[in-house]
Amino acid sequence: MRISLVVPCHNEASCVQRFLEAVPPVMESTGAEYEVIFVDDGSNDGTAAQITALRTHHPEARLIRLSRNFGKEAALTAGLEHASGDAIIPMDCDLQDPPEAIAEMIVKWREGFKVVLAVRRSRNTDGWFKRKSAAMFHALIQRISHVDIPANVGDFRLMDRAVVQAILRFPERIRFMKGIMAAAGFSTAIVEYDRPARSAGQTSFNAWRLWNFALDGITGFTTLPVRIWSYLGAAVAVFAMCYAAWTIFKTWYWGVVTPGYATLLTVTLLVGAAILIGIGIQGEYIARIVAETKHRPLYIVESTEGFENAEIRQIWPSNKAGSQT
Ligand code: UDP
Ligand code: MG
Repeated sequence: MRISLVVPCHNEASCVQRFLEAVPPVMESTGAEYEVIFVDDGSNDGTAAQITALRTHHPEARLIRLSRNFGKEAALTAGLEHASGDAIIPMDCDLQDPPEAIAEMIVKWREGFKVVLAVRRSRNTDGWFKRKSAAMFHALIQRISHVDIPANVGDFRLMDRAVVQAILRFPERIRFMKGIMAAAGFSTAIVEYDRPARSAGQTSFNAWRLWNFALDGITGFTTLPVRIWSYLGAAVAVFAMCYAAWTIFKTWYWGVVTPGYATLLTVTLLVGAAILIGIGIQGEYIARIVAETKHRPLYIVESTEGFENAEIRQIWPSNKAGSQT
């Protein structure tokens, strides 16, 4: 039984060592063989050099260095493609996904579940903005999306090889991994955990990035926002016809009256705004269609460490003495 931990890293020089100190005791207690695949996602703080140095004492660690910052979703995909475990667990580098939860996940996996989700017990380590925006996003996407994307679940989960194989068949370039992983399905169990604060360093996700991440999620998993406009247009048309009939009747019955400047202006502005929003939402989808049709590579690998020797992939790091690549 082999476990691959896939760890995307963007400017995590202050975290990688702590990560490699925290993980081995837990993994050894499970008795599983394991590898840690770090994906350096274009860091400029020496994260890759740090990992290279740590590898002399941690042969279980492997490194994929991307040629620039491609974003967490692409980095995660790179890791999944290189992982050779029977089960694969994506984890954040900042220890916000506590390694202790892994033992419980493996128990569930051994019981036969193909996916074991790590669900946060509470969001009390998040700030007010993150809590509120996450809650709103989940309420919305639960309502309008055609896949069931669970709340309070990040990328931290155990996936059987079969699940990863299925995920890698999703061809899209814009990869909202939470959605893709949910769309894969499979028998699912849950373990609960408390999410600690970041061990060191800073988050890479500011409000603007989270907003665009949410748009990727919505446009990736529902077409409702772009389809709703014809219905809205039809509703406005019906209303307009009724109103026209009422105006004709009024004019015929009571004679010509001219007030209505305020109403006219309000209606014009409202309808204009609705049209612009509609066009804007179409633009979001069209921009993503353009991105998809370019078929650009999802990520570019600049170098790898620890993958050179096929034998090591088979022996795995439990044989520490033999793993010197
Ligand atoms: N990350 C990445 N590429 C990016 C941004 C983030 O690989 O462009 C990694 C980051 O190093 C970390 C994980 O994704 O391991 C989660 O990022 P972060 O902790 O900044 O997000 P938060 O926990 O605040 O949502
Ligand atoms: Mg984090």
